[in-house]
Amino acid sequence: MADAKQCAHPNCSCTVGDKGKYCSAYCEGAKGTATIACECGHPGCKGNLK
Ligand SMILES: [Zn+2]
Ligand SMILES: [Zn+2]
Ligand SMILES: [Zn+2]
Repeated sequence: MADAKQCAHPNCSCTVGDKGKYCSAYCEGAKGTATIACECGHPGCKGNLK
């Protein structure tokens, strides 16, 4: 939990390292979109309403 930053996607609860602001290309691509749920596919993401 030290340097874990949250993904910049508003509905994504993933954490990212020092790679960038987004956990995945999905989140990066959804930047300008009004997405309701996150579909990055990572387990534990609360945007994945499965
Ligand atoms: Zn996500
Ligand atoms: Zn994300
Ligand atoms: Zn993710």
